[in-house]
Amino acid sequence: MKGRIPLGRWAGVPVGAHWSVLLAVALVAQAVAASVLPAAAPGRPLAVYWVVGVVVAVAFFASLAAHELAHTVVARRHGVGVRRIDLWLLGGVSQLTSRPPTPRADFLISVAGPATSAAVAVGAAGVAVLVDAVGGGVLATTAALWLAFTNGVLAVFNLVPAAPLDGGRVLRAAVWWRTGSRARGERAATDAGRGFGFLLLAAGVALVVTGAAAGVWWLLMGAFVLAAAGAERQYAVVREALGELPVRDAMRPDPAVAPGWWTVQGFLERRAPVVRQRVFPVVSFDGVPVGVTSLAELTELPEQQRLTTRVADVCRPLTATAGPDEPLAEVLTRVPLARPRDVVVVLRDGRVLGLVTAEDVDRAVELARAGASASTQDSWSRS
Ligand SMILES: [Zn+2]
Repeated sequence: MKGRIPLGRWAGVPVGAHWSVLLAVALVAQAVAASVLPAAAPGRPLAVYWVVGVVVAVAFFASLAAHELAHTVVARRHGVGVRRIDLWLLGGVSQLTSRPPTPRADFLISVAGPATSAAVAVGAAGVAVLVDAVGGGVLATTAALWLAFTNGVLAVFNLVPAAPLDGGRVLRAAVWWRTGSRARGERAATDAGRGFGFLLLAAGVALVVTGAAAGVWWLLMGAFVLAAAGAERQYAVVREALGELPVRDAMRPDPAVAPGWWTVQGFLERRAPVVRQRVFPVVSFDGVPVGVTSLAELTELPEQQRLTTRVADVCRPLTATAGPDEPLAEVLTRVPLARPRDVVVVLRDGRVLGLVTAEDVDRAVELARAGASASTQDSWSRS
């Protein structure tokens, strides 16, 4: 995610916030301090409104984080790792490193977030009642009620049965459980996601046309839901086509490697022109893979520096690796490939065995489809 501000590791998972979160927190503080509180308890000093407003905004942000952490904790309990949590303008995204193994796990992981939001809403409402009962003041009561209301909305909105919302995952789990087919569950959830995205866009347009500024939020949410549902559908189609295909069947065996001790200039002049590859594992002198680089990245280096810089000094760390027998679809869940710089390095006993690029994935998907339609053809001609 571009513009990601790291917030450290929570429960061992790296958490980051997009800059838009800061904007959202500021907007919440502003809305609470400038309109919610003055309306409920008029005539207090401006500074008091703002102090309470900032506290409410931070508490709201914390409840978003609690929602995401709930997904993480339940995912881990079901053996599903979490790569990282990203908080952004409209909430958060937990990136899982593998798919939930069963419909039950899928359901529980998905429902944990909205359940947490609902619990926070009930808790905050309870605090409001308690504060009111002991005569604790209108400001505190209003703040607690506001948090109860927004967390309630968060719980309900997230339960709309449309990908990528939590409710979409619940729908996926339900269809998967009913039909025994995860792929059908994914289709149902992403279809609903597209429908819901268009609905939000239409509502946004209607609001903007009638002069309601809030329509902009609806447009933003609609665009987000539509894009995310589309991306999820694409992944689902790829995973469905690949099935259990192992990495070895899709990889490029014995790829050219970039010797880390060579200069960038030497590599670009002598090796790059004679191999048909754009991405390279970088190896140390004794053949141990130490990183990854691409033609695109090496040529970004200013020409004067290419003569004095070694390839190992400018390569990226080796983070995307896989074993030859892992299912490719699972690896892709863990490592999203962006072209033309990304690659999965296939390792065996710590040595480079092959490479998988985005193009190799496309090829594997197309071949899998060709194979599927070929066998349909076969049964046609037999019958
Ligand atoms: Zn959620």
